[in-house]
Amino acid sequence: MPNENRRYRWDRITLVGGTLMFLVFSLAAWITPDTAAADEGIALEHPGVEAGDGSESSASSSAEEQESPAESAVRQAMTSKSISEAEEVKPCSCNRHVLKLPKNPYTDHEVAARNLPNSFFVKDKNELEAGKRRGDLVPVHDGRGYHITALSHSYAVLLPEVSDLLSDMGNAFADELEGTGSEGTRFRVTSLTRTELQQSRLGRRNYNAFNGTSTHSFGASFDIAYTDRPSNETDCSAPTRAIQSVLRGFQKKGRILVIPEKSCMHITLRR
Ligand SMILES: [Zn+2]
Repeated sequence: MPNENRRYRWDRITLVGGTLMFLVFSLAAWITPDTAAADEGIALEHPGVEAGDGSESSASSSAEEQESPAESAVRQAMTSKSISEAEEVKPCSCNRHVLKLPKNPYTDHEVAARNLPNSFFVKDKNELEAGKRRGDLVPVHDGRGYHITALSHSYAVLLPEVSDLLSDMGNAFADELEGTGSEGTRFRVTSLTRTELQQSRLGRRNYNAFNGTSTHSFGASFDIAYTDRPSNETDCSAPTRAIQSVLRGFQKKGRILVIPEKSCMHITLRR
């Protein structure tokens, strides 16, 4: 009998112990998700502080004083993630698939290009340099609302009136986005004046050649292929609406001729 009693007691102890263990694990499992959520909360809050007003430095230094090494590691991971994202801001397309604009026939572009004051066929680099010396072609640099990309098939020069047009379009584009989350977005000019050699190298890829000549060879045209946002904080909708509005406005006023293409918008000054 005493043996049986002892065995019975051990069973009860095991039962009670097991129940206690179960309760402890349950409690731990219940607490852990809350702790993780709290860490995430701290980590997610921080970029918000940085994106906020000018009190950034004081807010982040006090946060650093209080945070644990684990929180610090999470915060650093979050910060480096947002930096790498900032470096990869995807451009917004400006082509016939995205923008809806009527096409002006290519013959109209050619007539306009030939009739611009002092326009001439830029046959080669010598002709181009001579045109620059005469002031018939002017160098084009980045400006408000637009930028020029590294050019492999054209030179960053235009007829003076066409350069003025580009500035006006850049200002109109920047004005459209001023005060919005997309302020600072610039449209990208991917092609300007081409010599005969550059034109021939483009070969079949060029959709604007007419009888072997292109309005790009008269300093009369440029191509816009993208808009570039300052960050990923806003999407492409506002920049795309803005470039559509600018192009349509200038086209309606009769200041430009447009050919919407597969990969860009071909623009020629009209007088
Ligand atoms: Zn073009």
